[in-house]
Amino acid sequence: MRDDSNGGGGGVPHLSAEEFRELGHRMVDWIADYQARLESFPVRSQVAPGDVASKLPLHPPEEGLGGVSGWDSIFKDLEDILLPGLTHWQSPSFFAYFPANASGPAVLGELLSAGLGVQGMLWSTSPAATEVETRVLDWLAELTGLPEDFRSTSDKGGCVIQGTASEATLVAMVAARERVRRRGAPVDSEWVAYASTQAHSSVLKAAMLCGVAHGADDKAHVRLIETDARYAMRPDVLEAAIREDLAAGRRPFFVCATVGSTSSGAVDPVRAVGEVLARTGVGDAGGWLHIDSAWAGAALVCPEHRGLLEGVEVADSLSFNPHKWLLTNFDCNAFYTRDRRALLEALSVTPEYLRNAASASGAVMDYRDWQVPLGRRFRALKLWFVLRHYGARGLRAHIREHVRLGECFERWVEADERFEVSAPRSLALVCFRLKPRLGETPSDTDGRNRALMERVNASGKVFLSHTVLPGVDGLPPRYVLRMAIGSTTTEERHVRAAWELLASSAG
Ligand SMILES: *Cc1c(COP(=O)(O)O)cnc(C)c1O
Repeated sequence: MRDDSNGGGGGVPHLSAEEFRELGHRMVDWIADYQARLESFPVRSQVAPGDVASKLPLHPPEEGLGGVSGWDSIFKDLEDILLPGLTHWQSPSFFAYFPANASGPAVLGELLSAGLGVQGMLWSTSPAATEVETRVLDWLAELTGLPEDFRSTSDKGGCVIQGTASEATLVAMVAARERVRRRGAPVDSEWVAYASTQAHSSVLKAAMLCGVAHGADDKAHVRLIETDARYAMRPDVLEAAIREDLAAGRRPFFVCATVGSTSSGAVDPVRAVGEVLARTGVGDAGGWLHIDSAWAGAALVCPEHRGLLEGVEVADSLSFNPHKWLLTNFDCNAFYTRDRRALLEALSVTPEYLRNAASASGAVMDYRDWQVPLGRRFRALKLWFVLRHYGARGLRAHIREHVRLGECFERWVEADERFEVSAPRSLALVCFRLKPRLGETPSDTDGRNRALMERVNASGKVFLSHTVLPGVDGLPPRYVLRMAIGSTTTEERHVRAAWELLASSAG
């Protein structure tokens, strides 16, 4: 940027430093005002398909806006075009899917990352980007009570920020296959991965991406293991599936245990799953146990929730998303492994133009070798700011308040005889529904629940989403509503208002 209000050389109209400062202040003001106005918008966007596009010109501008004053039109479009087309994920009455916490410190970190514009693909391309990331993830390992050998300070383990839990699972799967291959499995083995029926679809997608699964319906190469009454993976069924595959000459190489499933927050028994890998010999053959704790992992900052990870010592990798429930805006996935060599062996390729003395010395980490893309943003800044701003105490208070609100909501549901809690409450996630009426068919009950959700969402006052839980004990699957409490600014009054709206709309 040049300090020349006529822009840079060659007629390129860059913002001068002073213009950038002025617009930057104005944008930060706009964001702060947006946050203050959040409760005035309908939570779920009410536009129809094409509404937003119809307000955008069909062709790009030939002439740019020129100076600062031209930006008035951009700020006007934020109000007229953008806001109506947003679902307000940061609304305190957003209870759908899982939360996607943003926070002031994280937004400032994101801004700084963009302002610095560094590419941290190699240690040498910006040493601070690598070393801050490593230290901040080691802090997070300490805060969440992860075992020592998942940290960068251990002999063989390490940690990295991936974009998403989906990428973390893909990277773990590719490392797993390479490890099993290096221990003697032919490269053209018939590879098989395992996860529960409640696992996130990203496990299947990872298998499709790395050529293990032949399409989304390939249940032979991604085996979805039946769950128990709490929707947790059944280790006995996993063991039977693995033995069947081994007997048929197939190659089990990867198991994903979910700690905090997307549907209902179910927790697979990590230790028992690890024991299955040991008993069947899959572990000795290099087979890999990955823990996907995308949402629930954040709760590990509270010692009272560490039981979720009982048995974590037997896992090869684990990831969770600070971008869900730990006040760090998307994207930020914390990935830990006890076998960094397996990652490097699966993912390193070094073309001549990336060779450098620091990498050759072996004294530094090059995070490009830990991920799918080459380039990488300085995402650690936002996590660094969040951890420093809130401190462990602040983060624990954040999680504990939401879990307390989840307990309140669960009690209110239980106290209303028209409703039932449909799965054990998991942290701040409550699955619930209207009970079946006498003589009603299951699909009519589902229909009433769907209609209730549509009614409350259409009001604009709250936004909830749904899932279908498998039937237990021969019962049919059930359509249930999910109350996922976790927005940065959600207070008891928001949860209470949501419950009152549900109760009064239930009929
Ligand atoms: C949200 C979620 C994911 C996907 O997260 P991304 O970071 O968007 O890839 C994966 N697994 C579980 C259990 C999730 O809840």
